[in-house]
Amino acid sequence: MKDPNLMRKETLDIADVLPHIRFTPKELSATSFPEALVMIAGDPINMTSLKLQTFKENGTRCRICGCKGQYFAKEKYAGEPYFHLNLYALKEGREVLMTKDHIIPLDKGGRDRLNNFQTLCMECNRKKGNRTADKVKKNKLKKKSGAKDQKPRP
Ligand SMILES: [Zn+2]
Repeated sequence: MKDPNLMRKETLDIADVLPHIRFTPKELSATSFPEALVMIAGDPINMTSLKLQTFKENGTRCRICGCKGQYFAKEKYAGEPYFHLNLYALKEGREVLMTKDHIIPLDKGGRDRLNNFQTLCMECNRKKGNRTADKVKKNKLKKKSGAKDQKPRP
């Protein structure tokens, strides 16, 4: 279930990645904060992402179905300057991306803070409903006046 546009360089053991994750109050930008970058198996990677912090703090297991992250993959999209690390579980041989999920959705007052994130696999996250994405869509609709019957632009 890897995003087909992602280029994968290699996979890494979880035990080799977790010690390098840094707890910071906010995710630091790799371009503005070079100190956020850590050399991971030869590539500079931003180790302050809230997603990585969530995996370190809450573990690599999905809180709903219990599937366990098995490995990190060093991946990036074409044109991105740095690789990032995605965590994957295997469910019946399928690769499933692990995500950070807002326990209290943003539109219900939840915040982008580590204590409001839990580890969920992509499948459970989708079933739970991606409320942050819904919120983005609603806001787009509100901005257009009389846009009741129009679909938001892609
Ligand atoms: Zn799950």
